[in-house]
Amino acid sequence: GLKQRQAKVICVGLDNSGKSTVINHLKPESTKAHNILPTIGFNVEVFKHESISFTVWDMSGQGRYRNLWEHYYEDIEAVIFVVDSSDKLRMPVAQEELKTLLTHSKIQDRNIPILLLANKMDIRGSLTAIQCSKAMDVDLLAKDRPYHICSTNALTGDGLEEAVQWLSAISL
Ligand code: GDP
Repeated sequence: GLKQRQAKVICVGLDNSGKSTVINHLKPESTKAHNILPTIGFNVEVFKHESISFTVWDMSGQGRYRNLWEHYYEDIEAVIFVVDSSDKLRMPVAQEELKTLLTHSKIQDRNIPILLLANKMDIRGSLTAIQCSKAMDVDLLAKDRPYHICSTNALTGDGLEEAVQWLSAISL
């Protein structure tokens, strides 16, 4: 599994879904986050958590940089997709982003595991993990790839440890 070695995992999702908060929670205190290529507005954060190497970037509103991210796609071994489970209005937008990622030529034929975080579960009226996966039709998008969906509260860390355990345990 991923636990045995380092693995490139990207954490993506719309703006405001909670990516930075998730990352901050997983990031060990001692690890200094650093940005790669900050001058062209393409911020990538790299850190290790229990021997998994995370690479993180914000996917939304940055369409013009998409061709730059694509250089990283070949190395990717797992995807963490964060969705704001209280943002029902943008659920279709999140779905479209996930679809764009998973149907990319460098990704579509690979058996990359997908971890979906239904974040902000603490907000009243937010969708459950199951409701999120239905709203985004994750079954259809994931195809035969292994996927797992967890409700999380990135502010408190609730659900995050279980989610990352799934990634650590899955065999590629
Ligand atoms: P990013 O744009 O995806 O990196 O999102 P951020 O991590 O910056 O989070 C956006 C906003 O949502 C911030 O105000 C966070 O404090 C808040 N937030 C993130 N996760 C949660 C959560 O699980 N519950 C609640 N209530 N707020 C959250």
